[in-house]
Amino acid sequence: MKYISHYPKNLQEQIQALIEKDKLTSYLKTKYPTTHEYKNDKALYSYVMDMKNEYFKKFQISKVMYDGKINVINNALGMHTFVSRIQGSKLKSKNEIRVASIFKNMPQEFLEMIVAHELSHFKEKEHNKAFYDMCTYVMPNYHQVEFDLRVYLLHIDRFGKIY
Ligand SMILES: [Zn+2]
Repeated sequence: MKYISHYPKNLQEQIQALIEKDKLTSYLKTKYPTTHEYKNDKALYSYVMDMKNEYFKKFQISKVMYDGKINVINNALGMHTFVSRIQGSKLKSKNEIRVASIFKNMPQEFLEMIVAHELSHFKEKEHNKAFYDMCTYVMPNYHQVEFDLRVYLLHIDRFGKIY
């Protein structure tokens, strides 16, 4: 239960029960039957830019890529890099979005969730209430999908990949 140990006990017990009844795979497969088609950096870039332009118009993104070195959980559900570089005499902040490579073969909802998470960090660096308010503004069912992503990661650890 390590990925969901900070969730309420009854939720953890529900997932534990699914595991014991050998129903975890069908729980995920039924809710999230297909994977998305944004399989490379170019496709990911246009997907991220579409969401960015809808919700965070004034922010600039310099780079979008899948990154095989990111661990989803250890890096707090995706990495947010704010690279500062000198441009002329001005210090300019550059926003990069790196998405863990594991998201390449996941349902679109999980990709949408992680991109909503990363974009929300443009406005709020900490994982606080303002931050999660932003996440749910971009994706109203953000919390449910983050929970299910964690359940999916549990599934990978115990039974391997589904998609
Ligand atoms: Zn974060």
